Amino acid sequence: MNYPSEAPESARLFERAGVVTPGGVNSPVRAFGAVGGTPRFMVSGKGAYLTDADGREYVDLVSSWGPLLHGHAHPAVIDAVTKAAAHGTSFGAPTVNEVALAEEIVARTAIDQVRLVSSGTEATMSAIRLARGYTGRSTVVKFAGCYHGHVDALLAAAGSGVATFATPETEGVTGAQTHDTVVIDYNDAEAVWELFEQRGDEIACVITEASPGNMGVVPPRDSFNQVLREATLKSGALLISDEVMTGFRVSRSGWWGLEAVDADLFTFGKVMGGGLPAAAFGGRADIMAKLSPGGPVYQAGTLSGNPIATAAGLANLQLATDEVYSRLDAVSTELQGMVSAALFGAGVPHRVQYAGNMFSVFFFDREDDVREVRNYDDSRTQSASKFAAFFQEMLARGVYLPPSGYETWFVSGALDDGAMSRISDALPYAAQAAAAA
Ligand SMILES: *Cc1c(COP(=O)(O)O)cnc(C)c1O
Repeated sequence: MNYPSEAPESARLFERAGVVTPGGVNSPVRAFGAVGGTPRFMVSGKGAYLTDADGREYVDLVSSWGPLLHGHAHPAVIDAVTKAAAHGTSFGAPTVNEVALAEEIVARTAIDQVRLVSSGTEATMSAIRLARGYTGRSTVVKFAGCYHGHVDALLAAAGSGVATFATPETEGVTGAQTHDTVVIDYNDAEAVWELFEQRGDEIACVITEASPGNMGVVPPRDSFNQVLREATLKSGALLISDEVMTGFRVSRSGWWGLEAVDADLFTFGKVMGGGLPAAAFGGRADIMAKLSPGGPVYQAGTLSGNPIATAAGLANLQLATDEVYSRLDAVSTELQGMVSAALFGAGVPHRVQYAGNMFSVFFFDREDDVREVRNYDDSRTQSASKFAAFFQEMLARGVYLPPSGYETWFVSGALDDGAMSRISDALPYAAQAAAAA
């Protein structure tokens, strides 16, 4: 298989989209900015495969950025969505499925209570508001390269030292909005202790990806999450474990199932929505009691706990048994081995990193550049051009990868022998393309 690099129907749609939508997309990475070429407009998905507007079929290693644990259009999920839709799309009143989904999440995790929202961004934004309300403190600590959605206070870059305030990372966020945010390097325990020594009593919370997947996969090392737990406990700050990506993706209990560090608040999204907009934040009962309507911290949502989204999420989670996670681990390990072997074969400097079944591949320009990627600075040494060349060749050969070297590759339980052999056929060509780039 070798598709032409032009994709006429997608190109036409992209042009149409660009007239009425900024950049032609509704979320930036979809625009293929990091890899070039025409973003593929998708018309359908089934199991491990996506079909685009030009009728081309791809093995999907994005899985909607994580949610599709069981592949596209799984019959149980589609059935749940169809049945829910037939009963009405939204009531603006409590429903049974919201309770069932909350029970399922609580049963799988260490949290007492959960509040449903519609996106991961809303979940982290609300968790931070709650942490500030609960502690009566202002400062939020985050790590460079960790992404928590497009929350104003979290779109912040590091200041010149731990004692300074963060600066906005984007136009449209003001200094006031990042004034109470501190950004430090991931996996740097010393920086954490130094910060808490200087300003521990101002800190409302530390928010961290349970295991980061938004700067490529960069797992916590040397019990970093435990360090965060100890530092926050000592100073009376809350620890927020952002499991929007890892939650119910890497184990039936998310990252917490692999490393049981008891954060005060957790955020979820992606898998728990089964491909529909549903997300959540939750934690200890005494903290959650501060939320409206019972408590003083306001939070609300017209479509929160939407009956169709909760039906999809519940079906997705009910399918997610321990056997499924074992299979995802095995498929991920096999895939990592295949990619690495092809890249070694072509002499492409690279490093594969994984966390549970999530993994990513860092390409480097020279063998001397290869390193363990521990933080965002390390991640930024990767080769954009080699990744782009690799990506385009995989795409041409019918494999859809995340269109950026800073993203996680997501496997699904639908990857069968046919899908794996298509990937395996494509890899040597993609590795050659990366070697030549
Ligand atoms: C995807 C993601 C978010 C944001 O979720 P949205 O639903 O895109 O708003 C937040 N945190 C992490 C760790 C994520 O991966």
